[in-house]
Order: sequence, then structure tokens, then C-alpha cells
Amino acid sequence: MNDKSLYDLERSGLEGFLEDLGERSFRAQQIWHGTYVDLAPSYDDITTLSKTLRAKLARELPLDTLQVASTLESRDKRTRKSLFRLSDGDTIEAVLMLYDKRRTICVSTQVGCAIGCAFCATGKSGFTRDLSAGEIVAQVLHFARDLASRGERITNIVYMGMGEPFLNYDAVMKSIRILNDHNGFNLGARSFTISTVGIIPGIERFTEEDSQVNLAISLHAGDDELRTRLVPINEHYPLGPLMASCRAYVRKTHRRLTFEIALIDGVNDSANDAHKVAKLLAGLLCHVNLIPLNPIPSSIFRPSPREQVDAFAKELTDAGINTTVRMGRGVKISAGCGQLRGRSH
Ligand code: SAH
Ligand code: SF4
Repeated sequence: MNDKSLYDLERSGLEGFLEDLGERSFRAQQIWHGTYVDLAPSYDDITTLSKTLRAKLARELPLDTLQVASTLESRDKRTRKSLFRLSDGDTIEAVLMLYDKRRTICVSTQVGCAIGCAFCATGKSGFTRDLSAGEIVAQVLHFARDLASRGERITNIVYMGMGEPFLNYDAVMKSIRILNDHNGFNLGARSFTISTVGIIPGIERFTEEDSQVNLAISLHAGDDELRTRLVPINEHYPLGPLMASCRAYVRKTHRRLTFEIALIDGVNDSANDAHKVAKLLAGLLCHVNLIPLNPIPSSIFRPSPREQVDAFAKELTDAGINTTVRMGRGVKISAGCGQLRGRSH
């Protein structure tokens, strides 16, 4: 049995695989098109292939679709969260959000997360394993098929589900290359966003790629003491070097960075906290997203009240920093940022 699924292969990898099987090269394009344009859920649905070849492929290169364990939809039907069971029994979650004309999917990159941020449900359950590129791609295909049945397609993919993308760098970048391929799924690089807690070696590597993929940094605080309390990895990657890597990224790519701040009542939401953030980001090509904390079970942290969020936003805006307030989406079905646990609720 092959330990790879079709979804783990880039187009060139698929071509090589078929060559090794003794198949003609145009077969690769038929399979690629069937999978990423027609969104066929199995080889049997790729009718341009002979029955013999379909059976051979199912044996040699399984199409590892995810099993849906459960799906929840928000009352307004604009957020849908699915819990998937992976082939080894582990479970992960992904979320589809329908806002305005955007059809955004939020994917997981790991089963659990090793970082353990104080306010995040994923971090509470610890780390189990990395996802493969194929397991990331499969989350996207699941929702893409769902949307296609209504004549719609995914417009954005955010790597903001369970896990830390830059601790699973290769699989994350490979999944983006697969989904970006112009002869297949063809989602533009600018439609992807990777969110990192601030893994400096990952930011540096990503800077070298000089890619159009968007980068978001989970900042949460403008001073090291508070940030370490909220985001323990700050001890290894403190704000000084982190900001230096962010500035190097903008210098090289000329792309605008996003900073995310989850505002926690009485913890990181004061005017003084806002000043520190403004000072840190001064002169940098960036945008700040403020999210009142999404509640998670057994946590003492509470979301900042709306007035406090608005006051924080005003401090940043007055300091010349582009700022948006994002109100909780999908919070009631625990599909909001940091609420994914990989369990049914
Ligand atoms: N590990 C990556 C990506 C996954 S978390 C990261 O930390 O960036 C995605 C986003 O959700 C991050 O910005 C994270 O800080 C935020 N987040 C985590 N828990 C949250 C919560 N309870 N409320 C609001 N945002 C939260
Ligand atoms: Fe991991 Fe991101 Fe959650 Fe922190 S916020 S525990 S890095 S998933």
C-alpha cells in the first residue's frame, strides 16, 4: 500500500508517478483536471479514464477523502464547521465562511498545537501530529464540492485553523502550490493567507520565497512580558527579533503584513497596551485586525467589551495604523478563531 494520497502530489509529482506506473503522460492531466477542476470525489467519477486504470489508481494512489464526522451551521447560515476523521482516527476541524461575496475556508495544519497560547482551545489539547499536504488539500476540496453544488467557488483560503502553519512549513507550502496550480484548482496566490504565531525561522524562509501569499502575525501584545504570558513561544522569539523579521519581510516583498490581536478584557486592551502596539508597528506597511476574544471552555479570559475594542482601534488609527475590528463570526458554534478543538461539541 502506498502511504501517499493523490492529494499529496503536485502536478509534476503526479506526472512522475504515472510514468512509473507505465501510463501515458496525458493521463496525468486528465486526473488533475478531473480532481481540481471537476472536483471528482473518486476515480470512478473521472470518466475519461478507463475502468482498469481507475481500479489501478484506487489501489496504487488512493484518493484520500476525509470522512465528515459532523457538521454544524450557524443560525444565519453564514458559517459552517466540519469535523473530519483522518485515516488514522485523529480528528480536525475546518470552517467555511460566507460573507459578502467572499467564500473563505479556514483550514487546519496540525492535529492540535504545541504552542499552547493561553486563550486558544486548540493549544489546550496539546500537539498530536502534523497534517500532510494532502490532508490540508482534502479539507479545501470538501468545501469546494459543497460550494460547487450551489454554483459557487472558494475565493479565499486562510491557514488559521488548528495548528501552527510554520511548524509544518513544507506541507503548508506544498498544499498552496497544489491549490494554486493554473491547470487545476487555480486559486490565485493572493487569495491565500498564512497566520503564524511568530515563528521567526518560518517568517525568514517565507520571506525568501518572495511569494504573493499573504502573511498574518498573531501579535496580541506590544511588550514582551505580557506577550510571553499570552503566547509562550515569545520567550524563544521575542518582539525585537520578531519585528526585525517582519520589517525584513516587508522590505523584500513590498507586501502589507497583517497583525492580529485578540482583545481580552482587562488583560491587553488598555490605552497603554494600544500605545505599545502602535510604537512597535510605527512606519511599517501593515494592517491590524482586532478581534474581541472568542470565549473558550474553562478559561478565565473574557472578551473586551465593544467600547474598549473601539477605543483600542481609535488609538491605533490615530497613530496612523490601518485597523479593522472583526466581530465574532461563528462563535456560537465554536467555529471562531481559537475555538477549534477537533472534537464534536
Ligand atoms: N497558530 C496560528 C494560526 C492558527 S490560530 C496562529 O496562532 O496565528 C488563528 C488565529 O486565531 C490567531 O491569530 C490566534 O491568535 C487567534 N486566536 C486563538 N484563540 C483565539 C480566541 N480565543 N479568540 C480570538 N482569536 C483567537
Ligand atoms: Fe497554536 Fe495558534 Fe492556538 Fe497559539 S493561537 S495555541 S499558535 S493554534
